[in-house]
Amino acid sequence: MQTYDSFFIGGKWVTPSGTGTLDVISPATEEVVGQVPDATSADMDRAVEAAREAFDLGPWPRMSPAERADIMASVSAAITERMDEFARLITSENGCPYSFSIMGQVFAATAVLDFFTGLTREFPFEEIRQGMMGPTLVRHEPVGVVAGIIPWNVPLFITMLKMAPALASGSTMVLKPAPETPLDANVLAGILDDAGLPAGVVNIVPAGREVGEHLVRHPDVDKVSFTGSTAAGRKIGGICGEQLKRCTLELGGKSASIICEDADLATVIPGLLPAAIMNNGQACVAQTRILAPRSRYAEVRDALAEAVAAYKVGDPMDPETECGPLVAERQRERVEGYIAKGRQEGATLVVGGGRPAGFDRGFYVEPTLFADVDNSMTIAREEIFGPVLALIPYETESDAVAIANDSDYGLSGSVWTSDVERGIEVARQVRTGTYTVNGFGMDFSSPFGGFKNSGVGRELGPEGLGAFLEDKSICLPGDYQAG
Ligand code: NAD
Repeated sequence: MQTYDSFFIGGKWVTPSGTGTLDVISPATEEVVGQVPDATSADMDRAVEAAREAFDLGPWPRMSPAERADIMASVSAAITERMDEFARLITSENGCPYSFSIMGQVFAATAVLDFFTGLTREFPFEEIRQGMMGPTLVRHEPVGVVAGIIPWNVPLFITMLKMAPALASGSTMVLKPAPETPLDANVLAGILDDAGLPAGVVNIVPAGREVGEHLVRHPDVDKVSFTGSTAAGRKIGGICGEQLKRCTLELGGKSASIICEDADLATVIPGLLPAAIMNNGQACVAQTRILAPRSRYAEVRDALAEAVAAYKVGDPMDPETECGPLVAERQRERVEGYIAKGRQEGATLVVGGGRPAGFDRGFYVEPTLFADVDNSMTIAREEIFGPVLALIPYETESDAVAIANDSDYGLSGSVWTSDVERGIEVARQVRTGTYTVNGFGMDFSSPFGGFKNSGVGRELGPEGLGAFLEDKSICLPGDYQAG
């Protein structure tokens, strides 16, 4: 049990203004494993004030990029040292398998931080351009005070997608973890402090939606970087629009994986399944629509059925477990609702559909495969956020691309083929932000984000740093020589 009674604000642990608390419940045991104070709007105001002061008057935006990078490197080293502790803690918060926690939650977080640390050292924050009217000093200045709003599914990694470029830019931040997963952020607070991050540069205030919205509306916040549901993203984007506040939105997905006629199923299935059921199916990039050619439909269905049935459900702390419980009872109800809808709308339930035997506690759902799915069915259109796959037949490759594109979302996708050039041609036609030929991945030095309802803006890569910068041009006299 990890209990906190204060918030990390202005480099200190400060007493909450209210008495509310957030219980962290293990999705595997249904026991309370932690407790933190639930922030009020007054607490959020204090955090914004600390971030504002650190930005307007503190050393962070005024340090050299190399000095900032040194502190970022210390943070990464300290997280790496405590990798196992972080992985276990996050698994206890959200139920993701330990093996995913190590790679997807913690290692990925340090890799993102390392990428932005390197970029900080080499990025041209200031450059002189010989322009059409004469020399111009082009500066890329920090955006200011950032509100980072984090979902529960990949808390430390998504925190780093925002914090690392914010720190690189010289911005300061108020981080609002999700109420389900506030503990890892508090461990991170200690690491930031030990690494010598100046007071107020990062402030960590767990809270629910209402207080989160107060943060978004706060006039001293210059930019909102949000990851979460499309519904919340729409709301937050609306507020930022009214206030002309900078805003990055990373939202939901319903990604399609196209299996081409020439694909080798022996390699496709083991590569595809972890991408489809990653993080117990609770991943925005999950490849949950699987498109198979009609000519090989029965073969793909049978191979997938065998693999889904063999997927190892279990205690998420067990390193062998491939699929753990869903984050909460309400999430299980939601996923079970989609399974019922799939049946009602005429999809064929091939594997799963219920609760796995032998688990008398924990929010488990069996890995589930539906076949004969039409792309107009609810289970093909809406993000389920659980281990539920929809196998959709197609006739021709252009038909497959049309089905992949017939979605409100456009976050990720993949194509499987023995001809990589053919795969690249398919990738060019799918309207989505990230795509993989013969695999699943995202490259931290390349932009990541969504087309359509999957979001606005990009994270990662130099584009991800650009999202935390304001560009300024200072026009200079024609005879100016750099001093
Ligand atoms: P959510 O939208 O309910 O909550 C996300 C965060 O936003 C939480 O911290 C929550 O407290 C806060 N929040 C919710 N409404 C708010 C509001 N009006 N103002 C301010 N803050 C608000 O999402 P969730 O259930 O925690 O996460 C799952 C969703 O996140 C899925 O839809 C998933 O696809 C998406 N997601 C997207 C990405 C991506 O990179 N595109 C990555 C991970 C998760």
